[in-house]
Amino acid sequence: MGALNRRLVAWYRRDLRLYDNPALSLSVSSDTMAAPVFIIPSPYELSRAIPSVQLRFLFKRISELSKEIETIGGQLIIRQGEPEVEIPRLICELNADGLCFSQSLEPSEHACEERVCRAVEAMGAAVFKAPGSSIQSPDKILTAQAQPFQVFTPYLRKWRENDPPTPIPAPTMLVRFPVTSESIPSLPQSDRDIDSISLPDASESSAQRALDEFLDNGLIHYSTQRDFPGIKGTSRLSLYLSCGVLSAAQVYRDTMDRALSMGLKADVFTAELAWRDFYRQILHYFPYVEQECFKTKYNDIQWGNDEELFTAWKFGQTGYPFIDAAMRQLLTEGWMHNRARMVTASFLTKDLHINWQWGEKHFKRYLLDADLSANNGGWQWSASTGTDAQPWFRIFNPTLQAQRFDPNGDYIRQYCPELKCLPSSIIHRPWMMSELEQKQYGVLIGRDYPAPIVDHTQRRQQTLNLYKSCEAPGALDAEAG
Ligand code: FAD
Repeated sequence: MGALNRRLVAWYRRDLRLYDNPALSLSVSSDTMAAPVFIIPSPYELSRAIPSVQLRFLFKRISELSKEIETIGGQLIIRQGEPEVEIPRLICELNADGLCFSQSLEPSEHACEERVCRAVEAMGAAVFKAPGSSIQSPDKILTAQAQPFQVFTPYLRKWRENDPPTPIPAPTMLVRFPVTSESIPSLPQSDRDIDSISLPDASESSAQRALDEFLDNGLIHYSTQRDFPGIKGTSRLSLYLSCGVLSAAQVYRDTMDRALSMGLKADVFTAELAWRDFYRQILHYFPYVEQECFKTKYNDIQWGNDEELFTAWKFGQTGYPFIDAAMRQLLTEGWMHNRARMVTASFLTKDLHINWQWGEKHFKRYLLDADLSANNGGWQWSASTGTDAQPWFRIFNPTLQAQRFDPNGDYIRQYCPELKCLPSSIIHRPWMMSELEQKQYGVLIGRDYPAPIVDHTQRRQQTLNLYKSCEAPGALDAEAG
């Protein structure tokens, strides 16, 4: 047999890149030709899909990926329909020997992959599964009793002991197959607020540039600036990581190399990458968290779920400037700073008494970096229902958080322009202004900016009672101690 005698369908999932793509590299070797394919949901499924900013970005990315594949001689085959129908059909059309893909840790994606694998194997074709997009696969980081970790610190210790995989170069050449490819459909129009968020550049080179830019200029300041939403102190790589335009293993490796060459420690940044892996393994081993609380006793919390309060939170009209700035950042940019995510999530659950799942769903709709495991983990951490979460009796004070992490009020001024003229001493709690001050600064509370929709001190006490009611009496003594 001559060279290139084997054909494999390389099924793109959330690994939408050429560089360091284990599934693609499995199917591109000295004797194998890869036929890359992306399956778009059927028009019916698309019309039923919950509109989201990320879905719009994914479509943009697929179009870029298609061009990138063409530049090395190949073609991204686009098919629309059910993967378990379209993949076997393509294998037949190409007379291919098998399928390879990167495994997902998300329950519904995993179930879909299983259906595809069964259909492909039933045809007598081979299936090759590459590890998913974690840096360390969940089965590699286990306790001494071979159990998944539920607490982050020991997980991190073990995570750091394991060498991460070495990134795999991008293929330099692909071939084109004589099969039809559908065009990328346009997404059904969604809400104006979703459609109006501008999408970042979706090419792989832009993602690589964003990584380089962070390593050149951001890494050095990361540990001191990462908590301040008013400055660009974090990498902003989450979108590219969540859609697989960048591989997390590459981000880790490049960071470590750069830190070494600059004589820096990158532990604080790499710990965040470990949090990403941590929540991915939580979702993998405890898939029920997608539907309910990790600590199931909190499923019984009697949330108030007041629709009006929820609307005020969503649109940044709570009367708490830091919360409002953050919620408006989400609506205008499709991204929110991590500190702001923690504080707004705490506010929704512990000040407004709204089920964390409502907030999780809202974030999923608007976040460009929406990721089931990180979003669920973040929400359950903030609501104290998750693994290794913020204890329920520790409740963020939205004003103190603002004073600490946005001391000059720069973040607030950026997203709440109506408060622009307020001095830093007042901007975090404008409701405390006297009538004279309101006139002086041109901000009438209740007219130009809302009065606080709840009283934090009162709500805090009610929250403690809400959570207490789910605790066994013995546990409460332990918490108090
Ligand atoms: P950096 O600080 O530069 O971190 C680098 C990378 O590490 C991030 O890009 C991300 O991939 C990962 N990371 C950082 N912090 C976390 C974390 N706490 N948990 C998991 N991974 C982390 N992150 C998402 O990627 N998608 C989400 O849907 C998401 N929802 C969240 C919801 C809530 C309520 C909270 C509290 C956090 C959520 N996060 C989510 C985690 C975190 O806020 C974002 O990853 C981070 O703000 C992204 O910005 P960055 O890339 O500049 O982060």
